[in-house]
Amino acid sequence: METALDRFLRYARLDTTSDETTGTTPSSQGQWALARLLRDEMAALGLQKVLLDEHCYAYGLIPASADHQPTIALIAHLDTVAAVPGRAFNPSVKRYTGDPLVLNEALGLTLSEADFPALAKFRGQDLVVTDGTTVLGADDKAGIAQIMTLAERLMEDATIPHGDIWLVFTPDEEIGSGADLLDLDRISADFAYTVDGGALQIISYETFNAASATVRIKGRNIHPGSAKGKMKNAVTIAMRFHSLLPEREVPEQTEGYEGFYHLSKIAGEEEEASLSYILRDHDADKLEEKKQRMLQAAEEINRQHGAGTALVSLRDSYRNMGEIITRYPQVMDRAKRAIASCGMTPETVPIRGGTDGARLSFRGLPCPNLGTGGENAHGIYEFLPVQALQKMVEVLIEIVRA
Ligand SMILES: [Zn+2]
Repeated sequence: METALDRFLRYARLDTTSDETTGTTPSSQGQWALARLLRDEMAALGLQKVLLDEHCYAYGLIPASADHQPTIALIAHLDTVAAVPGRAFNPSVKRYTGDPLVLNEALGLTLSEADFPALAKFRGQDLVVTDGTTVLGADDKAGIAQIMTLAERLMEDATIPHGDIWLVFTPDEEIGSGADLLDLDRISADFAYTVDGGALQIISYETFNAASATVRIKGRNIHPGSAKGKMKNAVTIAMRFHSLLPEREVPEQTEGYEGFYHLSKIAGEEEEASLSYILRDHDADKLEEKKQRMLQAAEEINRQHGAGTALVSLRDSYRNMGEIITRYPQVMDRAKRAIASCGMTPETVPIRGGTDGARLSFRGLPCPNLGTGGENAHGIYEFLPVQALQKMVEVLIEIVRA
């Protein structure tokens, strides 16, 4: 039997960074290497219906060992986020004693409780860490390693009763298109879980409702020396537009179920300016209010500066999967029971973002998200406690157990 740690280190050394600029699926060639490796490993473990399709989705089936059980899919993503420029992935395992843990001596980088107080609970444990030049990619290769370790356990141990279990490894989650081409007819699962979160006791079934807004401001440029009463400076009008939005409803001042307006880009000169926003709220009605507020701000600008000065275009991105998952309480109950039977107290925490599970839930496959144990995702301080990496395999066994 190979440990989840051995698997994780093998997967984490591959560069599977996704690339939102290519417009292809998969978005980067590196994801093929991991997908092929997983296809071969699934075949070697004796899984059935193993397939790597033309879009870089890898599938494998662990056949049922008990009758009349639901078909469950376990899903993890192949890609890692492009948030850090480094591409030479060099994970290592280090014992955390409570003293700052050196990631990279030459660069003077350490992982410390001063910066990350949550580290305190991992004193005395082994952590998988980066060398300070890349992300670790526990998001989501920890999930892949856990699912593959589960597969080996189930294939070798006939005493654990379970229904059909599909493994699905998907590309490009980090650029928001991981669920698009997943073949639901192939797996015909009753429900699924993405294994793609943080702490093991947390189950997430709610995401934001999401929209984006682009605001175009039309100005009128005149030589500044003779501009009085004539110039309409699109840049300052853009700033005024932004000042009409609630100052505190921004990502850096909100948490939990609080939604926000996030100004992500601003560009312009006197003649023309544009503002790009993302709008987020777990509550669909409140997201609607935020969209209205954008339109009202444009009306106010147009009252002050003339019709057609500000034009808002709104676009819906994704919806809160909570409205789907709550119709299938057994899916959440199953995960809660599994977590409790492994000695933890299950918690539900709303995701302040989206997941592949949201798209899948709306496509008809209810799919909450489970933890992997990974911490500090999307940066060089990402780390993975070995204990949690292994414990999640036990949780997965309880989830699939008949
Ligand atoms: Zn992820």
